[in-house]
Amino acid sequence: MYATKAFSNLYVLGLLNEYKLVFDCVSKEEIFVALKAGIKGANIHFHGNNKTKEELIYAIDNDISLIIIDSEDEYYLLDKILKEKKKKTSCLLRINPDEKTDTHKFIQTSNADSKFGLNIRDENTEKIIEKIIENPNINLLGFHAHIGSKVKNLEFFKEEAKIMADFTKNIQDKFKKCFSHLNLGGGFGTRENLQDEDLDLEKFLKGLIVFMEDLFEKNKLSITNLSIEPGRSLISKAGSILYRVGSTKVTMEGYPLIFVDGGISDNIRPSLYGARYSAILANKLDNEKNQTYRVGGKLCESGDILIEKVKLAKVERDDLLLVLFAGAYTYSMSSNYNKLLKPAVVFVEDGKDYCAVKRQSLEDLIKRDLKYKKGDQ
Ligand code: PLP
Repeated sequence: MYATKAFSNLYVLGLLNEYKLVFDCVSKEEIFVALKAGIKGANIHFHGNNKTKEELIYAIDNDISLIIIDSEDEYYLLDKILKEKKKKTSCLLRINPDEKTDTHKFIQTSNADSKFGLNIRDENTEKIIEKIIENPNINLLGFHAHIGSKVKNLEFFKEEAKIMADFTKNIQDKFKKCFSHLNLGGGFGTRENLQDEDLDLEKFLKGLIVFMEDLFEKNKLSITNLSIEPGRSLISKAGSILYRVGSTKVTMEGYPLIFVDGGISDNIRPSLYGARYSAILANKLDNEKNQTYRVGGKLCESGDILIEKVKLAKVERDDLLLVLFAGAYTYSMSSNYNKLLKPAVVFVEDGKDYCAVKRQSLEDLIKRDLKYKKGDQ
C-alpha cells in the first residue's frame, strides 16, 4: 500500500497505480484526488482520527473498500450512516499497540497519549470490538496499527507485529471470530541525508513476512491479508527540491547564511520535527566543497532554516541549490505563506522531463477571494 499523504497528485498516483498498489487516504480530499487519478474505490482504504459525517458518506458512496474505524464515537457515527443509507461496509479497527518508539515526539503514534486509535490496554476497546462484531452492517475484517514515522530501529516493527498478532489471537479466542486482515501501518525510516546510512527494507520486510507467517501458524490465525502502508520510505529519496540562491549574509555568530527562494512554505519538516537535509550546488558539481553554510528560506519566520550546516563550494547569487531526499511530506505539506507561489513538480527519467504539477500563478493566489465592497459591513 501507499500512504498518499506523503505526496499526492494525479501524476504520482497514476504512476503508482501501475504497480497495483492499494492507497491509504485520510480525508475526502485525498480520496477525491485518488479517484480522479484513476484509482478504484476497491483499492482505497480510508483512515483518519476525525472523519466527518460528510467524509464517511463520500467514502461509502464511492465504494471505498475499507474504512479504518479510529474511535468509539466514529463507530456510532458510521453505524448511524449505514442504517440511514441501508448499506454495509468492511472495516478494520485501529489499535494503538501502546509501544514506545524512539522517533520524534511529533511523529509518535503509539504512546499512551496518542490521538490515534483505541489503546490496547483500554478495557473499553474489547467492548467496542464486541459491538462492531455484532453489527450486521459492518464486516470487521481485522485490525490496523501504525507506530509512528521515521522509525529507523526496525526491531520496533517486529515488536508491533508480535503485539498485534497476540492481540488478534486474543480477540479471536474471546469472540470466536476469525480475522483475515492485519495492517501494520507505515513509518519505516529512510535515509534523510548523505551522512545517514540507508536501511535495507527489502531484506527486513522479507524477514518480517517469515516471522509473521510463523506467528500466524503458532497462534492459529487465518490472516490472509497482511499489509503495510509506507509513504516516506517509498517516495522520499525519489524527490529533490531545486532552489535558486539569492542573498547571503554573515551573522554575528555562526557561519554564512545563504538564502533561497523558498523555505517553510515548501518544506516545513526541518522546523516542524528537526529533519536534517543534505544539499549540493547543481551548477557547481565539480567544484571543491570548501565552505560551510547555513541555508535559510525567505519566509518571515526565524525558524525558517532549511539546513543548519552544509558544506558547499563557494556560493554566489543565482546558484542552484538542490536539496536531496525531499520527496515526502514537503509538497504535500506546502502552503502559500507570505503568498509565495507553490513550485512546479517535474518528474525526470533518462534525460526527459515530465511536468506533473504546474507552478502556481499570481492569479491562483486570489482565484477564490471575494473583493470587499464599500458598505458591505
Ligand atoms: N499509515 C498511517 C495510518 C499514518 O498515519 C502514516 C503517517 O503518518 C502512514 C501510514 C505513513 O507513514 P510513513 O510516511 O512514515 O511511512
